[in-house]
Amino acid sequence: MTTLTVTHVPMLDLNAQYLPVEAKVIEAITRVVQSKQFVMGPQVAELEAALSTYCQVPHALGVSSGTDALVLALMAIGVGVGDEVITSPFSFFATAGSIARVGATPVFVDIDPETFNIDATQIESKITDKTKAIIPVHLFGQMADMDPIMALADRYGLKVIEDSAQSIGSEYRGRDGVSRRSGSIGHIGCFSFFPSKNLGCCGDGGAVTTTDPELAETLAVLRVHGAKHRYYHQLVGGNFRLDTIQAAVLLVKLQELETQHLQRIRNGVLYNELLSEIPEITLPADRTPGRMIYNQYTLRTKQRDGLIAALNAAKIGNAVYYPVPLHLQDCFADLGYKAGDFPHAEAAAREALSIPIYAELTPEQQTYVATVIRGFFGG
Ligand SMILES: *Cc1c(COP(=O)(O)O)cnc(C)c1O
Repeated sequence: MTTLTVTHVPMLDLNAQYLPVEAKVIEAITRVVQSKQFVMGPQVAELEAALSTYCQVPHALGVSSGTDALVLALMAIGVGVGDEVITSPFSFFATAGSIARVGATPVFVDIDPETFNIDATQIESKITDKTKAIIPVHLFGQMADMDPIMALADRYGLKVIEDSAQSIGSEYRGRDGVSRRSGSIGHIGCFSFFPSKNLGCCGDGGAVTTTDPELAETLAVLRVHGAKHRYYHQLVGGNFRLDTIQAAVLLVKLQELETQHLQRIRNGVLYNELLSEIPEITLPADRTPGRMIYNQYTLRTKQRDGLIAALNAAKIGNAVYYPVPLHLQDCFADLGYKAGDFPHAEAAAREALSIPIYAELTPEQQTYVATVIRGFFGG
């Protein structure tokens, strides 16, 4: 019997994440401050080239946040008032919020209960004359089933915007046997660099990716108020720029990302062993062919409140992503959805619980987490 020396585990340890790179990050920020090129300095283009390589997609553009990436993407494909966009009801609010913000209507499709991602087999029945786009979300680091989604988009002339905010570096192996990275399959990919995402900056930041050079041009123009040449506006865009300081930080942190992904995957495998055969919990299913990068490690249990109390008492971080599915949010009441419309999303909102999975987590910490969870279930 080993003695556990761990007494608490945070949900995320940004101190541990920054420890090996903090000096480099501060140096990179200092260089930007000294250059005074705060807006669209050279680090932005440098980051875009690096992201394009990492995400295996020809065009990448830094933007102000993941939310703005989604809004910008919808603007670039011309979604507006009267249009419908199909998406998942089990995601962070921004996925549906951005659809509403451009004046369009979010149309929800239930999730696959195993992967938490949109159930591609249910999408076709929701396509109408007003449908312009589909936004699959690659939730918790696992890709949505993209082949059938792209096939529907082809057949009905729709655009696909990947919400890749939780899945930079995730891969999807299609029916053709080829693995493709998140954000390189749909017409546009949207990324977030919020500090707690797998690639986080020192504030807000995001990116859009595309394989289409014309869309890349439109996105770039819309990012700066729709002006290709300053003060001459072809389109009504906005200020969607990524700060040079954040680009400089991300250039440093991107170098660590692949190592961190491998550590997250290793942590996921260890949890799968440590938490196996507890009848009251369902472990996350890494089921989509390709590579899941464990943005979250999300269990399901019908005894969630009790488990949360046990974890809190043992000083173990935990989080409910997400307690209210999007179709039941107050702000979407006028869309007319009701409880019972999407049983799988609603069950996930009641049962899902994420536990610490960050890269720097140690096996001792994971053993402590597993011991507390087993103890709660009487094991
Ligand atoms: C974080 C997140 C966003 C929004 O990104 P921000 O950078 O916080 O604006 C959008 N969609 C999903 C699925 C997210 O997890």
